[in-house]
Amino acid sequence: MIKKIIINGIVQGVGFRPFIYNLANKYSILGEVYNDASGVIIFAEESNEFKNFFDAIKSPPPLAKITNITLEGSQKNTQYYDFKITRSKKTKNITTAVPKDACICSDCIKDITDKNNRRYRYAFTNCTNCGPRFSIIKAMPYDRKTTSMKAFNLCADCKEEYKSISNRRFHAQANACTKCGPKLQLVDNQKNIIHLDAIKTAVELLKQGKILAIKGIGGFHLTCLADDKKAVNILRDRKKRKHKPFALMAKNVEMVKKYCKVSAQEDKLLKDTISPIVLLTKNTDLLAKNIAYNQNKLGFMLPYSPLHYLLLKELNKPIVLTSGNRNNEPQIIDNTDALNKLAKIADYFLLHNRDIVNKVDDSVMQIIAGQTRIIRAGRGLSPISLPLPKGFANNQGVLALGAELKNTFCLLTNSQAIISQHIGDLKTLESYQDFQKNINLYQQLYEVDIKKLVCDLHPDYLSSKYAQNYAQDNNIELQKVQHHHAHIASCLFENKRPINCNNVLGIVWDGAGLGEDKNLWGGEFLLANYSNFKRIAQFEYVPMFGGDKVTLEPWRMAYAYFEKYQINTDKYFKGKPTTFFDKLIDSDIAFKYTSSVGRLFDAVAYILGICNQNISYEAQASIELESLASICKVKQQQTYDFELELMDGYYIVNSKKMWLSLLNDLRNNVGRENIAYKFHLSLASLIIKMTTKLKQQYSFDDVVLSGGVFNNKLLLELCFELFKNTADIHLMSASKTSLGDGAISLGQAAIHVAKIK
Ligand code: ZN
Ligand code: ZN
Ligand code: FE
Repeated sequence: MIKKIIINGIVQGVGFRPFIYNLANKYSILGEVYNDASGVIIFAEESNEFKNFFDAIKSPPPLAKITNITLEGSQKNTQYYDFKITRSKKTKNITTAVPKDACICSDCIKDITDKNNRRYRYAFTNCTNCGPRFSIIKAMPYDRKTTSMKAFNLCADCKEEYKSISNRRFHAQANACTKCGPKLQLVDNQKNIIHLDAIKTAVELLKQGKILAIKGIGGFHLTCLADDKKAVNILRDRKKRKHKPFALMAKNVEMVKKYCKVSAQEDKLLKDTISPIVLLTKNTDLLAKNIAYNQNKLGFMLPYSPLHYLLLKELNKPIVLTSGNRNNEPQIIDNTDALNKLAKIADYFLLHNRDIVNKVDDSVMQIIAGQTRIIRAGRGLSPISLPLPKGFANNQGVLALGAELKNTFCLLTNSQAIISQHIGDLKTLESYQDFQKNINLYQQLYEVDIKKLVCDLHPDYLSSKYAQNYAQDNNIELQKVQHHHAHIASCLFENKRPINCNNVLGIVWDGAGLGEDKNLWGGEFLLANYSNFKRIAQFEYVPMFGGDKVTLEPWRMAYAYFEKYQINTDKYFKGKPTTFFDKLIDSDIAFKYTSSVGRLFDAVAYILGICNQNISYEAQASIELESLASICKVKQQQTYDFELELMDGYYIVNSKKMWLSLLNDLRNNVGRENIAYKFHLSLASLIIKMTTKLKQQYSFDDVVLSGGVFNNKLLLELCFELFKNTADIHLMSASKTSLGDGAISLGQAAIHVAKIK
């Protein structure tokens, strides 16, 4: 009897077929294995050892990830005499996953550090277990000729490895060596080539305090020594990046531990094949303070490409590694572009001639409440592929366009939801072009045509405008989805809740999203499932003095609260143009109103002396407030009270009392870090208090916490801590997708499908 085994997931370009071949030999199995568009197919004759063979498949090579494995009988009449890897077959429905970039493996590190190896110090070494994938791919299936490695012809030695089944580089599509592969080149900012050992010279230049642009896996980086305050300042000046923290790279975890606390979980995450930037708590101030102003955290990653590995090994010191772009533009991926656009920022360029096809920023992650949280999904993580929960199958071609600032889009195939890499702020031309390019690319990679479109309720988001135009031009149906509903739906989806699941209480706190009443929501309590939601409580609306300017000038929100609650403390607003607003309030000019908790954070931060001037990056005030709270030594149990006003079964959270007690603490010289901590604890207590009250009125068992505000480690951990004692409530928050707007696209797609069913 011949058995058929179908394996789906990340099973191509990761050494899966040789793995099966070797297992078949080990267990004396006769049959064949091949790739098709849906994954890997095995035909195997049933024998005594078959069960052992089948079980062993479930522990695949490091980069493989099996999402589904089915075993069925087969009608096949073939007589097998051995076990063979046979030709790939192309079928219609692509369900396989596009391979992701992976950090250099330990075997390749051995190769590049062994003087006798032919890849000694070769910066583009890779194998089936590691190396670039998504960043170099143009089409599926993943094959050398569909990647930017097409430009390089394999030399005889590399070809031999590629063909030899026992070799680690058997069918390694990006295989290369010093003889035949990509090469490094060091260039100064006048475009003069420097004919010296590129890595050694680059290290010397860094030691002299120079700024280098380095071409990495998913894009260019700008780099300088992390302990050279002057160099860091020069980099800030030239990049016009005032405060936003820089990411760092260290040789290994031991080096990271000199500067940060690293838990076992964080250690594991740093070493993961994703090789993300991991946000870690500082334990010293040994590095230049201007790397991350007013922060108790640093973002570290480990060398993920052989090039980075060789640099850091030679240098033996941490470096700043920030994306290579001009202020607010996306990361540059092209040599010529870099030489032109970064010439005024970088002194030297470390280039190579392997093209980056797809821009993928470094992924940024953090461990919160024992789970991995995604701040930004990029290299190593993207494209994120999620299995469809029950009821979502057969909606191929739904494209959801996401939010605007931290844009991703989401494409549904028959068997999975695909979330794009972080595209970024669509308001810059380059990002918008990248967005369009990627929408086309994903349709090609997954062989899916757009059949339906979903976008945010906000008509001014560029993603919404794109959807509107695309729908009109192609006569396609377009559905609009409320922002905070999408936040909840994405969390339900990644937790595999079926399409007709029960209501949950969604507590969605973020910067802003357009509400159904045209106000800017952001402090919401929604009773929701996939298809519907009902707003059952909210933070009280306050006016946004100066409209969108409030996000850049925290004092405006503070003043709005003070004005609203008639709190008379002018001393906080000396020199600010407040009389202008006083006049406006008396006129009938219509303000925009917001219930955003993100904005409440801004206001509290301002009153505590954080960000007195303009902020220079998104959520800066909140992030600095969290840092301040995190250094609080005495963890008191007291909280500030929020008043809950009940109107026709609908709660409004009034923060007047909270403000009065907070100001009182300030007057009594309570430490600012204590106040900041108490504010965090108060919000966590509010969540539990509100949940209890709402549970008396509504039926739900799960509480979903979502929205960018919950990227706040202290706040989210306090919530999980407090909910430990509530046995009848299950707390959920995203970990496979972003807690912030990166997951909006997924939520939109899920809601669309649920609504049409
Ligand atoms: Zn390797
Ligand atoms: Zn070669
Ligand atoms: Fe949001």
